[in-house]
Amino acid sequence: MNQPSIPRSWVTCANDHADFPLQNLPLGVFSQGGGAPRSGVAIGTRIFDLQVALEAGLFDGAARAAVQAMAGGQLNAFFELGAGARVALRERLLELLSEGSTLHGKLQALGAKLLPLAADCQMHLPARINDYTDFYVGIEHAQNVGKLFRPDNPLLPNYKYVPIGYHGRASTIRPSGTDVRRPKGQTLPAGQNEPTFGPCARLDYELELGIWIGQGNAMGDSIAIGDAAEHIAGYCLLNDWSARDIQAWEYQPLGPFLSKSFITSISPWVVTAEALAPFRQAQAPRPEGDPQPLPYLFDNRDQANGAFDIDLEVLLLTQTMREQNLPAHRLTLSNTRYMYWTVAQMVAHHSVNGCQLQAGDLFGSGTLSGPESGQFGSLLEITEGGKKPIELASGEVRKFLEDGDEIILRGRCQREGFASIGFGECRGTVVAAR
Ligand code: MN
Repeated sequence: MNQPSIPRSWVTCANDHADFPLQNLPLGVFSQGGGAPRSGVAIGTRIFDLQVALEAGLFDGAARAAVQAMAGGQLNAFFELGAGARVALRERLLELLSEGSTLHGKLQALGAKLLPLAADCQMHLPARINDYTDFYVGIEHAQNVGKLFRPDNPLLPNYKYVPIGYHGRASTIRPSGTDVRRPKGQTLPAGQNEPTFGPCARLDYELELGIWIGQGNAMGDSIAIGDAAEHIAGYCLLNDWSARDIQAWEYQPLGPFLSKSFITSISPWVVTAEALAPFRQAQAPRPEGDPQPLPYLFDNRDQANGAFDIDLEVLLLTQTMREQNLPAHRLTLSNTRYMYWTVAQMVAHHSVNGCQLQAGDLFGSGTLSGPESGQFGSLLEITEGGKKPIELASGEVRKFLEDGDEIILRGRCQREGFASIGFGECRGTVVAAR
């Protein structure tokens, strides 16, 4: 797999690293030994400390401004700078970290201070998230879930006209590795007329792509679809943990509320549009008979290049499987290509009414299921609402998640002739209700 045409790094652990080779360079916020959060770049199994590099005088011009904007352990001001600063920083990082870099000696002299092991560091949320919106653009998921409730009419009539979404809760978004406390709430037991209160009994995951907003818009303005790509800072993995029993009782008429807002987990590294450029593709043509998007949602360039080919995977590891040293069980292998709307369409739609987007806002794509079994991005779909339990190598069965279960999301891009890149993991372990 070692292709000589693909540039390599003198940080040798990056070469052929599954997630973070030289070609990825995702940005994040980390700390070490209880120190203050700082900005860094994932490179192999290490983190390139941008503050240390700044103090060593390794940046100037737009790249320097980019790193200066990251001071304080939040990327919001950097996101606000837009694509120019991001590209300048990337180009400088490629210079610094490539095999044969003229600064190799100087950089190596900085040692572990410049390149701590990621395993010794703690990751934080990369930005202060003012607002979080969860979309519903995974059409296979929308159909699968719709079928459970309305077998004859799975998609509501607005679906192919409107990128459906709801305003989520920003305050309970957490980085990978944060425990997931089982929520309590109201549920309506089958066959009953009155709800009971207690711990959620149908806890689920949702496999989603997370989208970081870069430059925002003024309230009252809107972002034209042709400009939308300029307003996206990067991407992550997102697990929209869902309490299905609470959701079923509360969601009408205004949509999900407490069934979603107890925690949302994200992978901590911001994978940039530049890193993902080789893995863009045309948006799949709409099936015969589907309506054409309204003009404010349609752009030829976006249709030609606005979708992504990212393999997405979900794994389950139970407490018993951990004790028996069993490998994690793959629940889902899906892809971002099952999005009915592009990310640019989401941005254009979100702002078309004059709603203000701000740097560091986060979007979720909605659950990204594929059409086949094995590609379903939630247990609700896999077990058909709990009717078809899955069997695990430990002898256990699952309809929904039990305490001690860990869900692991992964995302990976592969294309012939290009270095594969990944998102790193988004993990969370369910702990008992309090
Ligand atoms: Mn969701």
